[in-house]
Amino acid sequence: MNYTFEPIGVIRSPYREKFGIPRQPSLVSAARMRLELSPPYDHPDCVRGLAEFSHVWISFVFHQTMDRGWQPLVRPPRLGGNAKVGVFASRSTHRPNPMGLSLVELLAVNVDNGVTLELAGADLLDGTPVLDIKPYIPFVESRPEASGGFVDGPPPQLRVEWSEAARRRLDQTDAPAGFAQLVEQVLAQDPRPAYQDDPERVYGVTLYCYNVRFGIADGVARVLEILPAAQN
Ligand code: SAM
Repeated sequence: MNYTFEPIGVIRSPYREKFGIPRQPSLVSAARMRLELSPPYDHPDCVRGLAEFSHVWISFVFHQTMDRGWQPLVRPPRLGGNAKVGVFASRSTHRPNPMGLSLVELLAVNVDNGVTLELAGADLLDGTPVLDIKPYIPFVESRPEASGGFVDGPPPQLRVEWSEAARRRLDQTDAPAGFAQLVEQVLAQDPRPAYQDDPERVYGVTLYCYNVRFGIADGVARVLEILPAAQN
């Protein structure tokens, strides 16, 4: 039997491409997002009582990669990109049902003009379709004694430095508040693919409408320049 689900809303996110998005929620707390609920779910009754919760579970569709199918074995980046584990032992985006689940901070619930939720720390691409929202219940869902398998702690963080040019450009842009912190937290995650370590290589990550150019050498990420992002 097949089941069909309709999105209840869409995510508006600074992450305009997959590259640079943290691999799990809460790693980049400076990422601010808006969840816009769609009719008929954009009625204040649907979110009555939700603002009392500090965190929510967001179920969503990996819409940008869902047509690429899935494999029984995947190579998690945390294992260096070589060792394989079963798809159900992983958080791979390539799954039989391409659904994701993220625990995120709920900053505000707005009901003035439709219904929108202000979120922090999500790992979601701009335009992600959302299937459901559920309040996080700490006494049921927090399990500090749990075993994390091959993901046994937060990933190491890179130090982040700014070039003079990038710092100057930052001061000239009208980037949203918290942009510098967002850049630093994103780069500290080391967004490079697991197999790449070329100190000469210049990368670009798109955040809001900016292309942040950077390089990584000797465990330090250096912001080189901030350019306008190419329009799609
Ligand atoms: N916490 C979630 C989970 O376990 O379901 C996501 C884990 S998955 C490894 C996180 C990655 O999903 C991000 O780094 C980003 O590259 C990717 N991603 C986020 N939103 C997406 C979307 N709408 N479509 C495809 N990939 C997406």
